[in-house]
Amino acid sequence: MTVKSVKGFRDTLPGESNVWRRVEERIRGAFHTWGFQEILLPFLERTELFARSLGETTEVVEKQMYSFQDLRGESLSLRPEGTASAVRAYIENHLDQGDPIVRLFYTGPMFRYERPQKGRYRQFNQMGIELIGDPSPEADAEVLSLLDYLLAHVGVTDVTLAINNLGHAGCRPAYLDALRGYLASSREDLCADCLRKAEQNPMRVLDCKVEACIAVAAGAPSILDHVCAECRAHFEAVRALLDLNGVKYVVDPRIVRGLDYYVRTAFEATSSRLGAQNAVAAGGRYDGLVKALGGPDVPGLGFAIGMERLLALLPEDADVPSDRPSVAMVGAGSNEARQAAFLLADRLRRSGVAVGWGGGRSLKSQLRRADKAGASYVIILGDEELEKDEVVLRDMRHQSQERVPRARVGDILLRRLGLDETVKG
Ligand code: ATP
Ligand code: MG
Repeated sequence: MTVKSVKGFRDTLPGESNVWRRVEERIRGAFHTWGFQEILLPFLERTELFARSLGETTEVVEKQMYSFQDLRGESLSLRPEGTASAVRAYIENHLDQGDPIVRLFYTGPMFRYERPQKGRYRQFNQMGIELIGDPSPEADAEVLSLLDYLLAHVGVTDVTLAINNLGHAGCRPAYLDALRGYLASSREDLCADCLRKAEQNPMRVLDCKVEACIAVAAGAPSILDHVCAECRAHFEAVRALLDLNGVKYVVDPRIVRGLDYYVRTAFEATSSRLGAQNAVAAGGRYDGLVKALGGPDVPGLGFAIGMERLLALLPEDADVPSDRPSVAMVGAGSNEARQAAFLLADRLRRSGVAVGWGGGRSLKSQLRRADKAGASYVIILGDEELEKDEVVLRDMRHQSQERVPRARVGDILLRRLGLDETVKG
């Protein structure tokens, strides 16, 4: 009997992992250009961290956490997202004591116990940023502009960036009252989950994916009519900067985000091509969070991109460099000839040439395999070549071959593959 992977946990196979890493490199590059530096965070945190930051009554904390007690009885959880950990690390390592504005990015797996389906897994990957210490609307516009740039930069088109203004702790209660009042009048149309949320956390009803609830949400009062003058001014300033910058977006008063810590700007990037799980990235401002977790009273904001969904949006013909070996080594004949081929392959790899090892027995089957693997060159080293201290270098694309001295084949290949500069430099 074979042992299968855990439900909702998936393998990323070589073809896909190649695309994945390339996309990740591009995003990483852009994060650096925008001044963000990587923070490597643990996958495991105290459960309390998420309960206190995301909110006790959020779906993630209530139902989706992989929590367990360790051998000393402490409740620990696999991280369901990155912001709580980043903020914890910011506080714990006193990152506020250097530059007042701290820019961090993280990448890696997150864990949520949800119903697995297309675009929704129990282990999924995010790349995200946190910009801590900047209260200005410029910071919001910059973060949104970065997200807009990134999606285009990796080749993802037809995404919609939707933004909303969630107000702040001062002005949101008035809206929540209005919303509770409205929801009370449509109780018979709400799903069981939303009936409960309507009292506890009414904004979450706007996020429900049940059709009847969507219809109720469509008629709900808009938060944009309830936010205070300061929150309104902040949002208008963000919008003005986005307009100036040519960043396209829509304002959607139903974007509430699942986590409690967001204030003012909240946003989502969605694509209809993703089906039901349509959000590829999301984020917002979380000005009270650092303080709520015991740190200084500094503002913050950020976003996270869902890597699996981002990859699903890439065009089929995304230009992906091949990670297949460009040279195949074919050793034939005596044990000495095969040893010499082994050593030459090793030397070439150490100088930066990707060499696939022949395998198989006969010369013919090794050549066939090299062709199938897409090698551009094949090196043949048999007893005759060993004796003359040569190899046969076959150019697969041009179907031509020549004999070259064994000692020179490395330089010749580096030059022909265009690797000579990169390797030396
Ligand atoms: P959704 O509404 O799809 O459940 P969310 O609001 O729970 O998303 P966030 O917590 O904001 O998602 O996470 C940011 C991004 O991470 C999402 O936009 C999505 O791309 C990705 N993501 C979240 N949960 C999952 C999951 N279970 N599987 C794959 N990707 C996910
Ligand atoms: Mg979710």
